[in-house]
Amino acid sequence: MNVNKVVRQHLEMEQFFSGFTPKGKDRASEPQEQEDNMAVAEKTVELEKIAEQVRQCRKCDLGSLRTNAVPGEGNSNARIMFVGEAPGADEDAQGRPFVGRAGQLLNKIIEACGLKRSDVFIGNILKCRPPENRDPRAEEIISCLPFLQRQIEIIDPEIIVALGAHAAKTLLNTTKSIGQLRGQFHEYYAGIGRPPTKLMATYHTAYLLRNYSPENRRRVWEDMKKVLAELGLPVPQ
Ligand code: SF4
Repeated sequence: MNVNKVVRQHLEMEQFFSGFTPKGKDRASEPQEQEDNMAVAEKTVELEKIAEQVRQCRKCDLGSLRTNAVPGEGNSNARIMFVGEAPGADEDAQGRPFVGRAGQLLNKIIEACGLKRSDVFIGNILKCRPPENRDPRAEEIISCLPFLQRQIEIIDPEIIVALGAHAAKTLLNTTKSIGQLRGQFHEYYAGIGRPPTKLMATYHTAYLLRNYSPENRRRVWEDMKKVLAELGLPVPQ
C-alpha cells in the first residue's frame, strides 16, 4: 500500500472541501511584508484548531489507548520543524512531544545549534502513543498523517528534520534505510501544486541514546550543521 499517496489524496479532498489553501513557498520573490501569506497569529490559531482536533480524534485504535494526545508544539513560524515517530510514555503522560530522555537530548542538540526549543516546532508522525512503543502501523499512519501534513503546510518551515527511520521513510515515501537517507537533503512533497520543503533525515534521539557512540553523535551533529548552513545560521564547530 502506498501510504503517502492514500494520505495525500485524503488531504487534498479534505482541503478541497474545507477551503483551506496552503501558502506558496517562493519566499525570495515575495516582498518582506508578504513573506508569509498567513500572519503568525493566524498560524497559531490554525495550529491550535488542529491540536484540538487531535485531542478529540478517535480515527484509529490508539485514540482509546492514550492518556493524552500529543499534537506537537513550538513556534508557529519556525524555520526548522523536527518530526519524530510517535509519543512515548512520558509524552503520553504530559501531552507534549519529546519530554522524556530522548526529548532532553533533542533539547541539547537544539541548544548546541545556538537555538532555543521555542524557536522550532516539534511533532510526530503519530499523535498518540502505540502500546509498548511498538512501531506505527500503516493504517494508523494513514489516519494520522493528515494532521502533520496540515501542520507542515501552516508552519511552512524552511527545513524539516526527520528524526529516525519511521519519520524519514513516511515523509519521503521511501523504503530506504535511515542509514541511506541521513546526511543529505531530500525533498518533502506536500502535494500537487505545492513547492517541496527541504528535509534532512537523521537518527532519532532515542536511537542515539541506545547507541551513544562518538561516531553516531558525530553523524547527527554533522547532519545538524548542514541544516544550520543551509539556513545561513552560524555553524558551531
Ligand atoms: S494516532 Fe492520530 S489518528 Fe489515531 S487516534 Fe490519535 S490522533 Fe487520531
